[in-house]
Parts: sequence; C-alpha cells; structure tokens
Amino acid sequence: MAVQKKKRSRARTRHQRSQYKLKVPNLVLCSQCKNPVRPHYVCQECGTYGGVSVIEIETKEMRKKKKEAKEKAKEEGENVVKTSR
Ligand SMILES: [Zn+2]
Repeated sequence: MAVQKKKRSRARTRHQRSQYKLKVPNLVLCSQCKNPVRPHYVCQECGTYGGVSVIEIETKEMRKKKKEAKEKAKEEGENVVKTSR
C-alpha cells in the first residue's frame, strides 16, 4: 500500500477543492437550423456538420411509427402462435 510522506493540510486540500468548478460550454449557431451547437460537433437537432447531413435524427413521429410497426408485428406474431396450436 502506498503511504504518504506528509499529511496534506486542510487548507491545501480546501484551496485545491475551491478550484473545482463546471465550465460553461462554448456554443455556436448551427449553419442549417440556427440552434446552439458545440463547435466541431454534429448538430443534434438536424444531424448536419459543415452544412452536410451526416447522421439521421430520429424525430418523435419516426419513433411513434417504429413503435406502432413493432406492436403490429408482435400482434401478428401472437396470432401465428395461437393458430399453430
Ligand atoms: Zn442544426
């Protein structure tokens, strides 16, 4: 086990801890949708970087449709199981 040579004073510890703080992130406006975005990051609102679409953003409607399709498939699957018995 590592053993410290000297006790670190309360003042030293507290002075160091006084430097712990959260930084406010630097933000710029997206060139496409004008939402605040971190520089050099893909926009999470429209999925573009440097004016080029790089990722597909899933909207609320898309999620709803996906969920409905999943439930429909599940129901159909249950029907198949029932008929096969
Ligand atoms: Zn954007």
